[in-house]
Amino acid sequence: MAEKEIKKSIDSATVDMLEKASSDGVSTAFSRAATMKPCPIGAEGSCCSNCAMGPCRVPMPRGREETLEDKQKRKGVCGATAETIAARNFARMIAAGTASHCDHGREVTKIFLAVAKGEAPGYKIKDEQKLLQLALDFGIKIGDRSNNEIAIDVGQTLSDEFGKQEGELLFLKRAPLKRQELWRKQGVVPRGIDREVTEAMHRTHMGTDQDYHSLLRHGVRTALADGWGGSMIATELQDVLFGTPSPVASQINLGVLKQDEVNIIIHGHEPYLAEIIAVVAQDPELIDYAKSKGAKGINLAGMCCTANEILMRHGIPIAGNFLQQELAIVTGALEAIVVDVQCVMQGLADAASCYHTKVITTDRRAHMQGATHMEFDEHKGTQSAKAILKAAIDNFPNRGKNVRIPKEKTDLIAGFSHETINYLLGGMFRASYRPLNDNIINGRIRGVAGVVGCNNPRVTHDMQLAMVKELIKNDVLVLQTGCMAMASAKAGLMVPEAAAKYAGAGLASVCEAVGIPPVLHVGACIDNSRLLMAATAMVKDGGLGDDLSDLPVVGAAPEW
Ligand code: SF4
Ligand code: SF4
Repeated sequence: MAEKEIKKSIDSATVDMLEKASSDGVSTAFSRAATMKPCPIGAEGSCCSNCAMGPCRVPMPRGREETLEDKQKRKGVCGATAETIAARNFARMIAAGTASHCDHGREVTKIFLAVAKGEAPGYKIKDEQKLLQLALDFGIKIGDRSNNEIAIDVGQTLSDEFGKQEGELLFLKRAPLKRQELWRKQGVVPRGIDREVTEAMHRTHMGTDQDYHSLLRHGVRTALADGWGGSMIATELQDVLFGTPSPVASQINLGVLKQDEVNIIIHGHEPYLAEIIAVVAQDPELIDYAKSKGAKGINLAGMCCTANEILMRHGIPIAGNFLQQELAIVTGALEAIVVDVQCVMQGLADAASCYHTKVITTDRRAHMQGATHMEFDEHKGTQSAKAILKAAIDNFPNRGKNVRIPKEKTDLIAGFSHETINYLLGGMFRASYRPLNDNIINGRIRGVAGVVGCNNPRVTHDMQLAMVKELIKNDVLVLQTGCMAMASAKAGLMVPEAAAKYAGAGLASVCEAVGIPPVLHVGACIDNSRLLMAATAMVKDGGLGDDLSDLPVVGAAPEW
């Protein structure tokens, strides 16, 4: 029987650009996913290539129930059972994700310390209040010391979290007490961030941990080192350095690209370069330089989580989410796509070779054949950013005639950090989640959902929207990060007026009273740590129980 073809996207700008890509002969993640079906053995986690005796494949029997005999045979050369192999694969996925978020956190810590020591002149500490709060949390002396002196101690304390060998990660103390006790009882309290990732790789290697319960327990420990460790460190230090987000208006989708300006997209995950580019792009000298090349100005937009970072703090528009990165090039109107780490497809280089777009890699850890490498140096941040923008401007005269920019762009309000939600709900002088809890207790709001994660061409792009709409219709407040936040924003769910249009009567009444959308943009993927803080605040402000599991909250990553 022929497989049912899935609809590629519910976003009309994406569908339009996929048609253009097809007529221009450009390969995209969508076309590659259509021609390369997922391997059914890998898809169920039944393949192991952890040693030279493999790869070993232990798939479930097709079209019938597994017998005892089948089960006996489903073993790798070393004797590893299908359960062990699947648990190892899953634990390695957790380790890779944790390593990525935590390397981001490590890089922030490094730059934070350089700023505090006066070695990174393009940056300064923007959120003093948050810096002092962190110092108080860690017992660091404040007195009459300067912000930079305090920041050195805060930065060093958090830097030590990565290489710590024993004890507990410091931010775990923020969790509800009952949860902390449960983690201790289960033996899943992370000791140091790098230690848990390394141990995950060791345990999952040939001949080490051979019990899937034990493997999965360490997976939990490693995941906690991500959410309450590296991700939280990244969020907190970025807020201190670049400012804690507050509500900001902007627009989203490929329609934010401009016909008559130098279009530059900044894409990836870590916001240090993007922060400086956002400022330097307004430099009158560079704007004049763009005009000298025939453009009317410089148009900066974001993509993926870097986009979320500069949207949350500067209101820079977003060109699209993960699956739209190649499509931005397909418009033919993109002078440069400036990338750092994570979520950057190698397919960008191929797509760019069909147009004039320059792919500029900027991070020492992430290179790409076919791209131009212009390494970012935080010690000379402004110089690095100017050189990158100049390269993009120089490319404007090379723009061809095969240009089509979709008209779609949607208004949104972002900037709902955990602190902002606190103030909006409780007011500046008695900031609190208690009004949210009260509205849950009185039944106006039925719960809170965190809907997060990446796109995936194996399912319909942005299909999460159906779930989000259903949740708000049923009076569930939705908090979002990453590419899922972008999907909802593109569909118009992130403006206050969306409450009357899409939310149930109870949720709509609360949103209207507070002046917030029914779906809140909380930030980038590392800002899932803000969701942990929001849920913890709900527990601490009382009335709903004394642990996270008592709350009417749920999390989902629907396309992943
Ligand atoms: S670790 Fe075991 S299951 Fe994995 S490849 Fe080696 S022999 Fe095969
Ligand atoms: S949601 Fe996923 S795909 Fe999108 S930027 Fe974040 S990590 Fe990357």
